[in-house]
Amino acid sequence: MLQDKITQYTAEINAFHTANADELEQFRIKFLGTKGIIKDIFDEFKAVSPEEKRSLGKVLNEFKQLAEAKYQDLKEAETEVSAGKDAGMDLTLPGEAFEVGARHPLALVRREIVDIFSKLGFVVAEGPEIEDDWHNFSALNFPEEHPARDMQDTFFIKKGGEKGDIALRTHTSSVQVRMMEAGQPPFRAIMPGRVYRNEAISARAHCFFHQVEGLYVDENVSFADLKQTLFYFVQELYGEGTKVRFRPSYFPFTEPSAEMDISCTICKGAGCPLCKYSGWVEILGCGMVDPNVLENCGIDSKKYSGFAFGMGIERITNLKFEIKDLRLFSENDSRFLKQYKSSLI
Ligand SMILES: [Zn+2]
Repeated sequence: MLQDKITQYTAEINAFHTANADELEQFRIKFLGTKGIIKDIFDEFKAVSPEEKRSLGKVLNEFKQLAEAKYQDLKEAETEVSAGKDAGMDLTLPGEAFEVGARHPLALVRREIVDIFSKLGFVVAEGPEIEDDWHNFSALNFPEEHPARDMQDTFFIKKGGEKGDIALRTHTSSVQVRMMEAGQPPFRAIMPGRVYRNEAISARAHCFFHQVEGLYVDENVSFADLKQTLFYFVQELYGEGTKVRFRPSYFPFTEPSAEMDISCTICKGAGCPLCKYSGWVEILGCGMVDPNVLENCGIDSKKYSGFAFGMGIERITNLKFEIKDLRLFSENDSRFLKQYKSSLI
């Protein structure tokens, strides 16, 4: 009988919660007051049999302590809230939510590119942004008088010296060299990273941007493998039905070399300002790795062949999201960056 009452009130106390001073006072009167429940129960306890007294004594004391502790806890919390109210604050209001950040559009696209090539077995490789002449130029077959070596294009950190020029890398192709020097084929890797050019900053040019380089070297690798790989990439990135075309080009480190265009992502080939009414936009450069480059890196060019490609992540992103000014990427304007929160995550 008494035990049942205690069980029932224990549940009630445990479930009780308030930050309101009046409600808390009612709780105190109900349980701890001079005519309260605890007083009643202790009175009842006096009348029970000696055996019951033995078994209930401890339970009864614990019940009393529970009610007192609950009251103390709630009283402390309530005092804090009132102090806040006195100071003009309402501590029961929910806190200010903080904004969830967004991934940078370049990071989103880089991740998508990495995902697509990883399905084809390409791993990600990285290299230093500060490079020597050998890895950035010489090993890649750049002739001594090549304009890319000129002060106009390259940020040199140190000219000459024992190891030659030291510069901020002008392309991620330097990572190819490091990778091939460090081992033997097969190589199948993409190399995303930041590169630097000494250019005046405008809507169409920046002193730094991001590239993804790709390299595939093995026995019997042909230009057909290159075309199929890039065709797959474009279908995955821009959607099925996107057309590609290759135009002959020149790069010191590939032979033959090509530039690849895709059907315009805006007008689908009909003609618009983005594609200058041609229906095509250029997205990357590619070619078969020049045998000189393979030999420079200690790879037998009679046994192995390979292809390489390189693209600007900014360019790929511009075509995907129709961003017209390169400077937006590095200005950290949250109004710009937030727009891409829901895209591609
Ligand atoms: Zn177009």
